[in-house]
Amino acid sequence: MPHQTTHEATKKSLSFEFFPPRDLEGQDKLLAGAANKLAALNPDFVSVTYGAGGSTKEGTKQVVQRLLKQNIDAVPHLSSGTTSDEEVLDMVQTYKDSGVKQLLCLRGDQPSGQGQQPTYAKDLISLVKDKFQDHFNIVVGAYPEIHPDSPSAADEFNFFKQKVDAGADTAITQYFYNAEAYAYFLDGCQKHDIDIPIIPGIMPITNYASLIRFSGKAGADIPRWLDHALSDKQHDEADLTKFGVEIVTRLCERLFELGAPGLHFYTLNRWGASSRICANLGYK
Ligand code: FAD
Repeated sequence: MPHQTTHEATKKSLSFEFFPPRDLEGQDKLLAGAANKLAALNPDFVSVTYGAGGSTKEGTKQVVQRLLKQNIDAVPHLSSGTTSDEEVLDMVQTYKDSGVKQLLCLRGDQPSGQGQQPTYAKDLISLVKDKFQDHFNIVVGAYPEIHPDSPSAADEFNFFKQKVDAGADTAITQYFYNAEAYAYFLDGCQKHDIDIPIIPGIMPITNYASLIRFSGKAGADIPRWLDHALSDKQHDEADLTKFGVEIVTRLCERLFELGAPGLHFYTLNRWGASSRICANLGYK
C-alpha cells in the first residue's frame, strides 16, 4: 500500500496538520514550537492546509519547504476551484522539485461566474495524474458524518468512489466524535468496493466556543452529552483540556478497535493536547 507506514509503538500511522501562519515570525514560532514538539513523536508526515481561494498559497509553500529542510515529511493541501490549471500544475511542479511525495487534494472554493462548471476534488486528482502520473501519493478527504453539501448518504459513497477511481491512495476523514459513524462508513466503503486506507481525522478539544463554531461549518456533530459536559467546563481551560484529552483518547482507542489504520490530528498549530493523547495511546 503506497506510503502507508506504521508507527513502531502502536503499529498505526500518525500525522499532524498545521495551518500556515500569517507571517514569517509566525512560521518561526510554529517550526520551533508545535512542529518541533510533535516531530519528536516521529509522525509519518505532517500536512499544511491551503486557505480558501488560495489565500495562503505562498504561506503553504513556504511552510512545506521549511519543514522539508528540517527533515520533516511535509504534505501540502491543494485545491483548484478558483485557481487556474496552469497555476496549480506550476505549484505541483515546485512541490515535486522540493521533494514532496504526497499531496492532499481538495475541492476548494467554487468559481462564481455564470455557466462555470463546478469542479470537485476528483478533477484535481485527474489534473495532477495527467501530468505527474504516479509520482505523488494522493490523499483525499472523507466524511463519515456526510459532507454538508452531499445530497444523500448514497451519493457520498458514490462521490468518494469517484475520487478513488481517479487515483486517491489514502483518505483522511473530517473529524467526528461518534465512533459508530466511522464503523458505518467503513462498512459502506466495503460495499462500494472502496479499499484505500481511511484514516480518522482527530480534533483535540481545548476550547468549547471555537469547537462549536467550527463544527457547525464543518458538519461535525457534537453529541448532546458531550456538548453539555464541555459547556459545563468551558470557563476552566485546564479542566476542559484534561477532560477533552480523556474523551478523545477513548475515541481513538475505539477507532483502533474498529480497524483504523492510523490517526491524523488537526492540531490548530498547538501541541499540548495532541501529544498527550498520543502518549496515552502509546505513540513514542
Ligand atoms: P469533494 O470530494 O470534491 O466533494 C465536495 C462536495 O461535492 C461533497 O458534498 C460531495 O458529496 C460533492 N460531490 C463530489 N463529487 C460530486 C459530483 N461528481 N457531482 C455532484 N456533487 C459531487 N479546506 C480548506 O479550505 N483548506 C484545507 O487545507 C482543507 N483541508 C482539509 C483536510 C481534510 C483531511 C478534510 C477532510 C477537509 C479539509 N478541508 C480543507 C475542508 C474541505 O475543503 C471541505 O470539506 C470541502 O467542502 C470539500 O472538499 P473535498 O475535497 O472533500 O470535496
